[in-house]
Formats: sequence, structure tokens, C-alpha cells
Amino acid sequence: MERSIYFFGGGQADGDAQQKELLGGKGAGLAEMTRLGIPVPPGFTVTTEVCNAYYAAGRALPAGVEDEIRAAIGRLESLLDARFGSAEAPLLVSVRSGARASMPGMMDTILNLGLNDEIARGLAERTGSERFALDAYRRFILTYADIVLGVPRDRFEEALGRARKQAAARLGVDATRLNAAELERKVPDSLLDPESLAALIQRQKDIVLGATGRPFPDDPYVQLWGAIRAVFDSWKNHRAQVYRKMHDIPEAWGTACNVQAMVFGNLGDDSGTGVAFTRDPSTGERRFYGEWLPNAQGEDVVAGVRTPHPLSRSGTGGGVDDARSLEAQMPDVYAELVEVQATLERHFRDMQDLEFTIQQKKLFLLQCRTGKRTGRAAVRIAVEMAKEGLISQREAILRVDPGSIDQLLHPSIDPSAPKKLLARGLPASPGAATGQVVFSADEAERRAGQGKAVILVRSETSPEDIHGMKAARGILTARGGMTSHAAVVARGMGKSCVAGCSAISVSQGQMAVTLYDDHGHPTDTITVKAGDLITLDGGTGTVYLGAVPTVPAALSGEFEELMVWADAVRRLRVRSNADTPHDARTARNFGAEGIGLCRTEHMFFDEERIQAMREMILADGEAGRRRALAKLLPFQRGDFVGVFREMAGLPVTIRLLDPPLHEFLPQDEAQLHQLSKAMGVPAQDLSRKNEELVEYNPMLGHRGCRLAITSPEIYEMQARAIVEAACEVAAAGIEVEPEIMIPLSMTRRELAITRALVEGVAEKVFAEKGRRVDVRFGTMIELPRAALVAGELAEEAEFFSFGTNDLTQTALGISRDDAGRFLGAYVEAGIFAKDPFQSLDAAGVGELVEIGRDRGRAARPGLKLGVCGEHGGDPSSIAFFERAGLDYVSCSPFRVPVARLAAAQAALAAESARGPRATD
Ligand code: ADP
Ligand code: MG
Ligand code: MG
Repeated sequence: MERSIYFFGGGQADGDAQQKELLGGKGAGLAEMTRLGIPVPPGFTVTTEVCNAYYAAGRALPAGVEDEIRAAIGRLESLLDARFGSAEAPLLVSVRSGARASMPGMMDTILNLGLNDEIARGLAERTGSERFALDAYRRFILTYADIVLGVPRDRFEEALGRARKQAAARLGVDATRLNAAELERKVPDSLLDPESLAALIQRQKDIVLGATGRPFPDDPYVQLWGAIRAVFDSWKNHRAQVYRKMHDIPEAWGTACNVQAMVFGNLGDDSGTGVAFTRDPSTGERRFYGEWLPNAQGEDVVAGVRTPHPLSRSGTGGGVDDARSLEAQMPDVYAELVEVQATLERHFRDMQDLEFTIQQKKLFLLQCRTGKRTGRAAVRIAVEMAKEGLISQREAILRVDPGSIDQLLHPSIDPSAPKKLLARGLPASPGAATGQVVFSADEAERRAGQGKAVILVRSETSPEDIHGMKAARGILTARGGMTSHAAVVARGMGKSCVAGCSAISVSQGQMAVTLYDDHGHPTDTITVKAGDLITLDGGTGTVYLGAVPTVPAALSGEFEELMVWADAVRRLRVRSNADTPHDARTARNFGAEGIGLCRTEHMFFDEERIQAMREMILADGEAGRRRALAKLLPFQRGDFVGVFREMAGLPVTIRLLDPPLHEFLPQDEAQLHQLSKAMGVPAQDLSRKNEELVEYNPMLGHRGCRLAITSPEIYEMQARAIVEAACEVAAAGIEVEPEIMIPLSMTRRELAITRALVEGVAEKVFAEKGRRVDVRFGTMIELPRAALVAGELAEEAEFFSFGTNDLTQTALGISRDDAGRFLGAYVEAGIFAKDPFQSLDAAGVGELVEIGRDRGRAARPGLKLGVCGEHGGDPSSIAFFERAGLDYVSCSPFRVPVARLAAAQAALAAESARGPRATD
């Protein structure tokens, strides 16, 4: 460890923005802002290495660190002309956590540290406000007790209530019949007078003594050591661990700890605190955007206890909000802040999220970081910044997380659907969500575990609610602004959120909703209970009663533009898995360049068809099977005609029947009897036949092309349906590119047999129709043996499609349907970094893909190689397929844009891995 402490202050900083690993994002940002000459209270960062050393030593600070910290405090003292621990010129500090990746609210921060009775008196004298000094002191004791001493916050609630009652009496307010919430509204923190506060402080100290057996520490250095340890400890608290898991943040990174001189936003009405974004984090619009509260400190804005005011005037003139805006209240400070935000955005070349505090009209920046944003905002910001010349088009492509654009493609509320408006709040995170109301995070998790869609409704959320937010479809809060915890976390998760919905009040397992008329007068109150259905529109901040129908997403111009840029650098083609003309159209609208997998079995589940299918399966002998298949032929042909038409001019890969036949059979007595009547065969006979078809291990049983070896007439019918459909569509002047794909092959002979069969049928159809169309013949590679003998298979196949779902099952010997029981534990234990069914196991399954590729192409140069299966839409797997030089991936229609962007990013990554380009 080279050094443990990095100082910032007085226009100079030891660290800079590049040192996030060592200083954490917060520390690096504070250092960089200081270097830029932006007003930042001075302080220093204890590095992440110290945190890791602290854990390595069994939670002990490494030797020498304390001395370094004392020296750094000394530097702060001389810079500010104040002393830590002195009552004459008290220096107070905040002790702030800050990891490499932003983890908002997950870890701990302690404000106003360095107070005891005497210093509090000194602070009162210095600031001329006893009320302020005592308020800072009692808040400090509360936070310190909670975070460092392990005395939970709620143990102090009663004492606070007593202080409010005392203050109420002095104010002449009758508090006898008020409940806690009403009392808080009547006597907010700002009305607690010095006497009540002094009594409260004494009671808080008594509580600490009672709970810990020791007096509250009076020595500021003792306080400091405790706080630094607590910040390091908070790296491993439960909510931080949950958050890390969700965002793939390694445990080994550790957090830094920032010790910084306090500035006070709660020194009166010429002070305040707020948060800001250099662009709108919800829509991406280029406008300075944020919220503030006068006479408030730290968490007050994000905690959602008071609903904050906007920073800027709305521009539409008038209104309470405009009058309360910082722009109206403190125009000079506002102007300075606008300048600072512009500087920061230009400097970091990305949208920034800022924390600031104003102490008696003087502005201080307390944090800057790359702002979290919705998928929609990410796209707009990237495209507009490229057009502004701030970043290149390539950077714009790399700026947008492919996973996040998923939300853009999701449906929104149908504007024409009948709906009952319940309430309006802030449009905190877009998207429509319907679900049952739940009032606690645990309940959300429980019901979601039972497969229910839930909406988590809270007065406000806190980091403890994270698991419930994760489980919920949407989040509704009564209090808090656009930058409240609920809003920020929901946007990060891409979940619908309506925040600050003041018409609702949540208590005792139900929510009361006040309804208003057009003039804003209350008309009625409705009670919504747990389990009732509501719908959120996070894009407009609207809450509806019941389930409201939705409409498909409309894509923005910026989105189309980004996709054009992405397509220009992309090498991998993107096709879609689609079984019906409807899916094919959706896929094409999303930019699919063909169908990579059209499964024919889904076509058999229709009411009319399933009957014929069952007859076919249960028929005795070939003649019976052929009779039943003849009934299916027109259906299949019709399906293919529809798909070919939608995909005019693009390739369509159709996989012949794959699943074991048992999957199509009647599942219950009633169905069996119906079938027996239709076929004129006794039910017992059918039942026996049914049982005969049961397999011990259907995944490895009689399925795929194995069906064609025993009953070739099934594939014959399918081939005929495909070729007839292709001829029919071609006859209408539409270009068709059918590709017939054989599933689960493992030997050359299987392919030779099925190929002869398909070609025989095709020739017959061509002769009958008097026209030919090009029909390609290929196979899936989904068994390890197929990958190994790919050279032989390529002699018969014109293309391969890696069926990575089955290839993963067979390579790992793990059944996907049974993996749920243990795969979670595997990921938890770090045996797999990610679920191998979602993200390709590059080392194992990936190597089989590469072997298949090499041996296949060696035997048949120009062999076309694709991927179908879940991995085709997974960004990290797509990166692998790009490196592997495959020709295309195929994924579900809604993933097509995700795959296009991921493929473009993979191409750019591959390019920069090959070495720098001459331009750009
Ligand atoms: P988080 O990572 O949860 O945002 P922070 O360390 O940023 O935690 O601190 C929490 C709140 O306290 C923020 O609103 C921050 O602006 C405020 N704060 C932190 N340090 C100071 C300070 N030195 N003076 C005034 N406010 C501070
Ligand atoms: Mg912060
Ligand atoms: Mg398969």
C-alpha cells in the first residue's frame, strides 16, 4: 500500500477522476471537482485498499493509518482555520462511504461528526443559532447510535415524540389527541425549540447508555474512528450485498471512506440542499433538472420526508413551484450552479448527477457522478451528445447498455382503454405495470415468489426495501421527489415507478386515496387493500384502479438513429425466433434480418390441429399416420405461407418436428375420451398407447430427427408443406428463402437419410407445381457429438445453427427444467459466474461451438453458422459469438434491437482489441 490518504482542498487534490478503483467514485469525483476549481468543502479519502486491509486483518485498521488521518485532519484545520474537537472554532466533518461503482444509499454516511456538549455550545455561538447547533447535535447522536453503536433508530422515536409534545405545548398547540404522524405534521423538526432539543439530546444519551452500557463518546477522535470503521463495515451489510449481487459488483472491491468538512444547508432560509442532473434522467431531454429544499441538510431531499421544490422555473410561468424554485429564490446561486453543471458535463462528457449544499448563499458541490438514467434517456442522451460533438457516434453506441433498451420496447397504457383514475404523482420511472398491491418488501417478495405480479406501495422506500422493489412490477410512493430513493432505484432497475403521490396515505396494511375534482377539491376517499389490483403509468405518474390494457411501444427518432449507427458497425446478422406470421411481423419491425428458428411444434397446439396430431401419434401403422398427417398438411402450409410473406426477401429457417411425441398427448381423462370418440378407438387402447410413449428421460429420448428415422412420414409432410408454401408464395412474385433445419442430429447418416427424404419431396412438389425454389438444407448443432463430428455433418448440411439451449444441457449434463433447484447455489458459490442457460458458458459450451465452427468450415468453406436459443439475445453471449466469427444470432422478437446494439458493441470491442484505428 503506497499511501492510505488522498487529500483534496484549496484548489488542489492528490487524486483525480481516473482513480475510482482506489478512491471510489465519490472520492475521485470530489478530487476532480476540486482540481477544476469548483467549490468543494475540503477533506480526504481513505482508500479502498485500506478497507480491504481492514477486512484482511479481521476488521482492524492497518498500523499507521490513524496517524495519517490525524495529519490530514491537521491539514483541514489549517485550511479552514478551525479545530477538530475545539469549542472555539469547531470543525465538524462528514464520514462518507463511496465505492468504485455507485451504490446509492446502500452504505452508510455520518454527518455532523465532532460534536459534544461543549462543542455544540461553541457551534451555537459561532453560528448565532442555538437551535441549529442542538438540532445538528441530536441528529448526529441519532445517526451515530444507529450506524456505529448499533442502537436502532426506532428506539429514539418515543423520545422525539416527547420533544415534539414539549414543543407543541410551548407553541400552544393541543397535542393530546394527535397520533405520531399528525404530531409530526403540526410540529416538524424545524419547530423544535432549543429547550426541547436539549432535553431530547439528554434522553438520547440515556438511551445509548442503557442500550450499550457505555456513555455516548464525547471525544471527537473516538467518534471518528468509530465512524470510519462503520463505513468500512457497511460494505458488507445486507442491503449492500443484495445490491452488489443484482449489479454484478465484486465483493473484493471494497469501499473508500471520505472525511470531509461539513457545510450546513440548515442554517436558515438562505441555506439549503439539493440534487441535480445535467439532463433529464427520465426522458434524456437536454435541460438542467433537479430539486432542492431550503433550510435542510443532507438526506432530507432524497429521504422523501418533505417534498422538494424544483431548481428551475418551469418556463410556463407562474405557479407555486416556480416561486419556490431555486432560480426564483436565489438567482445568483442558481446561475453559479448552472455554470458548474455545464462545466462538469463538458469535462466528463456524460450526464452528471450532482449533490450540492448552499450555506448562507454560498454554493458547495458535495458529489458528482455519471447519472443513472432510464433506457429511453440513455438513448436520447447518447444520440444528442454525438450530434453536439461531445462524443463520437461510436462512443454513443457504446454508451447505451443493451439490456436497458428492453424497457423502451415494452408496452404502455392504452390511451383509449376505459380506466378509473385513482391518483397522480410524479413520473419517476416509465413503463406500465399492473399488479396486486402489497405494503411491505417482504410481502412483495413472498407474493412474487408465488408468481403474482405485485405493486409495492410505501410512504417512501428506503434501502431496506430493495428486495421488495426487485420482486415488484412497479413501485408507488406517497412521498418523495424525482430523486427520492424509490425513483432512483426504480429507474436503475427499469421498473415503473410513481413517486410523491400525495393523494395516498399508507397505514396499517391499507392505503387511503383521496379523490379530487377538476378544481383540485377533495371529493371522496377510497380504500385500497392488500391484494387489490392497480395499474401504474410511470411515464406520466398516473395510478389507475384495476388492470388497464396496454399498447405496444412506439420507438423514438433517437432510437431509430442509434440503431442505424449500430447497424453500420455491426458484423453479426440478427435474426429472430418466430413461429407465427404475427411474431414474424413484430420481429421484422424490430429489424430482424430473417428468421433463425421457426418451431413447427407450436403450430400443432390449436384446438383443431391437436386432434389430428393425436390421431397421428396414436394411429396403428403407417397408413393411419398418413391419414392424420394429411389433415395437418393444409394447416402447416398455411402457416408457412403467412411467415414467408411477412419475411419476403429474407431467409426463414424452419425446424422440423423436435419434441417427444408424448408432449402432444391428452393430459386427462376427459381429453382421452373425446379422442377415443373421434378416432373410434376404445379409450383403454389409447390410454395404453399413451403410457407406452412415456419416457424416463424425454430430453434424451425419442425426439428430434430420431422421430424421422422411425416415422419418416412426419418430416415428409412437413417438408411438403414448406416446399408447397414456398412455391405458392414465389408464384405470387414474392421472394422466398426457405431453410429446412433438422434438430438433434449427431451422425452424418441421420442427415443423409433426412436430406434424401426432404429432397425427394421437394423434387415431387417442383414437378407438380412446375416451378423450382431454392431450398437450403441444414442442421442444428445441439449435441456434443454433433460439434465433434461437424466435419462429417457439414458434408450433408449447408448451414449449422447452434442450438445453445440443448447444447448447454447436453454439454453440462444439466437438465434446464431441473436446474432451478441447484443452479442458484452454483452461481452463489461462484462455480458459475452467471446462469449458463442465460449467458453462454464460453469455456465449455463455447469451445464446442468453436470446434463445430472449425471442423464444419474446413469441410465446407462458406458454411453458414448461426445461433438460436436464449443466448442469441444475451449481450455477453453475443460478444462471444462475435469473437467466434459466427454469421448470425437469432433471438425473440423483442430482443432483436437489444441484439443489434450488443452486436454493434461487440464489433467495436473486437475492433479495438485488434488495435487502434487510424481515424476516430
Ligand atoms: P450517499 O452515498 O448515500 O449519497 P453521501 O455520502 O453522499 O451518501 O451523503 C449523504 C448526504 O449527506 C448527501 O446528501 C450529501 O450531500 C450530504 N453530505 C455529505 N457530506 C456532507 C458535508 N461535508 N456537508 C454537508 N452535507 C454533506
Ligand atoms: Mg450522495
Ligand atoms: Mg433443441
